Amino acid sequence: MATHTLFLIPGDGIGTEIMAEVEKIIAWTNSEGLTDFATDQGLAGGAAYDRHQVAITEEDVAKAKAADAVIFGAVGGPKWDDVPYEHRPEAALLRLRKELSVFANLRPAICYPALAGASALKRELVEGLDILIVRELTGGVYFGEPKEIVDLPNGQKRAVDTQVYETYEIDRIARVAFDLARTRKGLVHSADKKNVMKSGVLWDEVVRSVAKDYPDVQFQHILADNAAMQLVRNPKQFDVMVTDNLFGDILSDAAAMLTGSLGMLPSASLGAPDPATGKRKAFYEPVHGSAPDIAGKGVANPIAMIASFAMALRYSFGMTELAGKVEAAIAGVLGDGLRTADIGEDNRRTVGTQEMGAAILGKL
Ligand code: ATP
Ligand code: MG
Repeated sequence: MATHTLFLIPGDGIGTEIMAEVEKIIAWTNSEGLTDFATDQGLAGGAAYDRHQVAITEEDVAKAKAADAVIFGAVGGPKWDDVPYEHRPEAALLRLRKELSVFANLRPAICYPALAGASALKRELVEGLDILIVRELTGGVYFGEPKEIVDLPNGQKRAVDTQVYETYEIDRIARVAFDLARTRKGLVHSADKKNVMKSGVLWDEVVRSVAKDYPDVQFQHILADNAAMQLVRNPKQFDVMVTDNLFGDILSDAAAMLTGSLGMLPSASLGAPDPATGKRKAFYEPVHGSAPDIAGKGVANPIAMIASFAMALRYSFGMTELAGKVEAAIAGVLGDGLRTADIGEDNRRTVGTQEMGAAILGKL
């Protein structure tokens, strides 16, 4: 029996094209004896709707919950604009996140030296950038109650969103950030607005108390607005940044633009460790979507998908060295001048999805 199980959900659009490149890498790591993965494939989004008239089947949800890691492509596309709301492609993604209770969203922003020129910032500010934003994903103002728009007697309306955090939610996300910092440069910034928000006061209090359990990790508080400014002014001062759902949404998008292209960015979403086994549920996906405009043309950039697989190696299976090799192979082909169209520059060799995947496998 294989040691680890991977559940692959390619999804729609370019999801299937980029997942095919990851499958080739998995076949190689298995054949080299570097991994012992058993893989299974599921359907989600439009692909599941066309076959089963739902965004994801109960059977595939169960398989995702049973797997050691889920590797997800992307869902959606204009073909499914008119399907019933509860079966829309995105419902598959929300359902999986909820079923797996993945509260920790990890978004690295890595600027490969070869792409430093494509960043929103000057080369010297981003060359060698390697930061990790740890965003709380299942709480905060996106979910807090009450959440409503109410009619007022004077004919006006009042809109209410509620930011709610409890100690345990802050504690567990902070521990994820500090654990990760130990495997990196050993620095955690925690971003909140404790100067104006009660949830920020509690956030800071809890993160500070977690920090005491990690005397080997350096801890810095930062106000979220200052964090936005510092990300643009001098991003390389950061290592790990932990923050709530709303600030994390915004700060991770800002960090993403420092690196060049959407086609480069992986993500991981982790759940709580199982008390019996210590294993976390985990969900890995590229930050980008199904890119209907280029689907089926063989031109999609597979790097975000392959880098998401590298994150699975690192965070679900502790295969740090192999993950580093995959990332080095990505850096290597970029250094050789290979570019997919989304990161293309005039003087470079533009390649398709399969050629980019093959080149990365070749480096490995
Ligand atoms: P979603 O709502 O699923 O996030 P979206 O419409 O916001 O989707 P994407 O599907 O990510 O965004 O596409 C945004 C743009 O980026 C499109 O023009 C798409 O072609 C391009 N793009 C996204 N991912 C890639 C990729 N891997 N390779 C090349 N181009 C990409
Ligand atoms: Mg989008």
